[in-house]
Parts: sequence; structure tokens; C-alpha cells
Amino acid sequence: MVTQVKRDDGIWFQCENCGLLLDDEMEAKRHEESCDAEDPTYLQ
Ligand SMILES: [Zn+2]
Repeated sequence: MVTQVKRDDGIWFQCENCGLLLDDEMEAKRHEESCDAEDPTYLQ
């Protein structure tokens, strides 16, 4: 899921699956939907 991260330079949105930080919530959610870090076992 996407978590909100408050920093001195503003609010960021972090993908909990892979730790990616994005400055746009929509973009973060879109990334999360296609993030393949959530369930890596099926690739193996
Ligand atoms: Zn991710």
C-alpha cells in the first residue's frame, strides 16, 4: 500500500512494496498497482 511521508521538502508517497518514493499520490497509487515487488514468489 501507499504511505504518506512528511519531510521538510513536502509530502511524499511511498510504495510499501518496494520503498519507492513519489511526490504525487496518483502516481504512487498507479505505481503500486503495477509494482511487482508485492508478490515476487510467483516469478520464480
Ligand atoms: Zn513499488
